[in-house]
Amino acid sequence: MKHLHSGKVRDLYETDDGLLLMVASDRMSAFDHVLEPGIPDKGEILTRLSLWWFDQLKDVVPNHVVSADVPAEFAGRAVLCRKLRMVPVECVARGYLTGGGLLEYRAGGAVSGVRLPPGLDNGSRLPEPIFTPSTKAPMGQHDEPMTFDQVVDEVGAEVAEMLRRITLDVYTRGAEIALERGIILADTKIELGWDADGVLTLGDEILTPDSSRFWPRELWEPGRPQPSFDKQYVRDWLVSPESGWDRNSGEAPPPLPDKVVERTRQRYVEAFERLTGSAFRS
Ligand code: ATP
Ligand code: MG
Repeated sequence: MKHLHSGKVRDLYETDDGLLLMVASDRMSAFDHVLEPGIPDKGEILTRLSLWWFDQLKDVVPNHVVSADVPAEFAGRAVLCRKLRMVPVECVARGYLTGGGLLEYRAGGAVSGVRLPPGLDNGSRLPEPIFTPSTKAPMGQHDEPMTFDQVVDEVGAEVAEMLRRITLDVYTRGAEIALERGIILADTKIELGWDADGVLTLGDEILTPDSSRFWPRELWEPGRPQPSFDKQYVRDWLVSPESGWDRNSGEAPPPLPDKVVERTRQRYVEAFERLTGSAFRS
């Protein structure tokens, strides 16, 4: 197998028959840094949860998965997939306002150029889900919000419309399924690419705690940060006085204490188990 690329989380290989082997490591990234140490089982959780979601959503949009039958050394944390030509846009949908979206809204009343009504707070539900794309920045750089017109400039009006429709469809269907299982899907990011026949196809991972915000439904209360089953816990720890790290210092973040690693793992396992209804380890 030929090594093609290693991103912050995944390693990509090409097999002899031209397929992609996408291996999810236990690496964790936050604020554009890869953190130390990794989160045990994270690669397996992301892979198994993505496979579950791809199956749930197969009628909404085609996906890149060919098989989860992979060489033993990667068992459970890799998939064989079709190689796509990736669209150079991170496709984000938001149904609730928080994080970077909240900052943009507070600064100018809009997110990625989408105007929102006044009076929204941290964790508010939006009147309807919105498409808030961002750039796909190279490793180490930060993804910047894009307006819909900027997406049109990048890929043309027809493809831009398709990206928006697919992203909102995935969000809406995903949010419905998650809510039945006690989880609010606040927002999510998907990556699409063209397959060999020119069909827009879902790639990467989907509706995981790395790519989404998951909030326990019973604890949702706008006006404050929400408890969550995703990487927000790690971001919060990194910017807390406890970590001693200054995000703007340009320095690498400090190693995660055992407690933070274990609590992060627990959140990822909880997301997997609530959503799929199966035990991560039975
Ligand atoms: P970068 O690759 O810029 O470091 P990242 O840190 O998000 O970004 P990972 O998620 O670790 O990267 O690696 C996954 C990479 O594989 C992404 O660049 C993603 O766009 C790409 N990718 C995912 N699925 C496919 C596919 N089916 N065909 C081609 N590329 C894919
Ligand atoms: Mg990625």
